[in-house]
Amino acid sequence: MKRKLEGQIALVTGASSGIGAGVAKALAAEGAAVVINYSSNPDKAELVVNEIKQKGGDAFAFKADVSNEQEVVDMFQQTIQHFGTVDILVNNAGLQQDSKFHEMTVAQWNRVLGINLTGQFLCAREAIKEFLRRGIVPDKSKSAGKIICMSSVHEVIPWAGHANYSASKGGVMMLMKTIAQEYAPMKIRVNSIGPGAIRTPINHAAWQTPEAYTGLLKLIPAKRIGEAEDIGGAAVWLSSDDSEYVNGITLFVDGGMLLYPGFEDNG
Ligand code: NAD
Repeated sequence: MKRKLEGQIALVTGASSGIGAGVAKALAAEGAAVVINYSSNPDKAELVVNEIKQKGGDAFAFKADVSNEQEVVDMFQQTIQHFGTVDILVNNAGLQQDSKFHEMTVAQWNRVLGINLTGQFLCAREAIKEFLRRGIVPDKSKSAGKIICMSSVHEVIPWAGHANYSASKGGVMMLMKTIAQEYAPMKIRVNSIGPGAIRTPINHAAWQTPEAYTGLLKLIPAKRIGEAEDIGGAAVWLSSDDSEYVNGITLFVDGGMLLYPGFEDNG
């Protein structure tokens, strides 16, 4: 049976760890060749590349800071030179710089917005230029291109002590919806994944100790933390023609975190 993403080219930002690495491996397992973008750790990026290659896939690692316009432009140029085009962008790179709001520095605010929101803008803009240039290739996909923005449950749940992060994810939601609306007539699909709590380095404090993990489970009706593979499966679905009529949504992958579990005992 033909794999769901056979012959397609995917670029995953922040793919040297956590959710990005899980998504890159899941896309590769369905036949996509993958660019593993990283910003600081070449060894970890090469591990992901090697794992994909050992399983018969194709991948290469590319260093670029997604908040830097020229580095993003160069990354897309190199990707198109190497693989011929880009079919799927997973806008995954992101970080937290937590602080009480009244103590938050402009540097903390700008760094989070620069990577989590401007980074998604810069990568999406380059991807859409390429999708418009190439158009639909019917043998590969019914869409001219697919973008998946890694958002968060915090595009809707306020998060004290994380105003910069929540604002960036709220911004990602409207960026995603607006470009989905703008390019739907050209058969370009743009959707988000909204992870709940996923076991990665970004939130290790929330699951590392038994006490922290027990506290975390109070927020998750499914009573387990999510794994990168949970997000990988959602990314494959949103990238493939199985979701061809889906455009402009956030697919929450959160074990029910958005079900207001605090109300399960009558509030
Ligand atoms: P992570 O720290 O493992 O991964 C983030 C990746 O982004 C890292 O590889 C990092 O090197 C990369 N990155 C940071 N700055 C970059 C830059 N300027 N340019 C390129 N890459 C850069 O954490 P993760 O949990 O895998 O996070 C991935 C995405 O998922 C983020 O956007 C995060 O906000 C989102 N998310 C995570 C969770 C969770 O529970 N883990 C929940 C909701 C949303």
